[in-house]
Amino acid sequence: MDKRLKYEGKAKRVYEISEEDVYLVEFKDDATAFNGKKKGSIQGKGVINAKVSAHFFKLLEEQGVPTHFIEMVDDNSMKVKAVEIIPVEVVVRNIAAGSLAKRLGLEEGIHLKKPVLEFYYKSDELGDPMINIYHIRAMEFAKDEEMQKIEELSFKINDILADYLEKRDILLVDFKLEFGRYKGKVILADEISPDTCRFWDSKTKEKLDKDRFRRDLGGVEEAYQEVLKRVTEGGC
Ligand code: UDP
Repeated sequence: MDKRLKYEGKAKRVYEISEEDVYLVEFKDDATAFNGKKKGSIQGKGVINAKVSAHFFKLLEEQGVPTHFIEMVDDNSMKVKAVEIIPVEVVVRNIAAGSLAKRLGLEEGIHLKKPVLEFYYKSDELGDPMINIYHIRAMEFAKDEEMQKIEELSFKINDILADYLEKRDILLVDFKLEFGRYKGKVILADEISPDTCRFWDSKTKEKLDKDRFRRDLGGVEEAYQEVLKRVTEGGC
């Protein structure tokens, strides 16, 4: 396939290909944490994250959430709709962990009474600072109608994924989403994987996500494999 590198991020490469309005996204084994300060590699991560993301994108599409996913091309790459990424990262939280636990002085693992939505400005140089709707308006990162759609889709995605994962003995603690504009519509983009979500085993509360890498807990590859197995077993 003829491809031209358009953008290389920390975990993915995005290529332009001969098809109009289509990009090829290749998932890498490279891993970073703490805004790029910690670097490493997780063997097999590219393949796992591509497969887990593809599976979730298909599940979400079936339930009426528009996504950028078109089809898998090989084990670690997929064709996606060529969106213009909205520079607002959306974090959805069901259980206190990470930066929320720190900021509000909560014990990790406390179930929140309601899901929490947070916005961060997508900027590596600034370390993705937290922002709110007023910053988004002032900076014209997105229109109010787009943010309303993003909020509605984010809660819907949370309901669908949390329910699907609960049946597979996984607690969806929190996760990060990115959206893009495509032909005038807001659609889900980026990835949904153990890199961008906190997944805990429902029974043991064992971490099955990137926190194993961030916190040097060991068993990183095994945890990612376990997520792929539980997410994909039994089909959709
Ligand atoms: N997250 C992400 N990319 C980021 C920041 C956060 O995918 O640049 C995900 C992270 O994996 C977790 C959720 O968003 O599932 C909330 O992260 P948090 O704000 O707690 O920050 P962290 O503890 O990861 O620094």
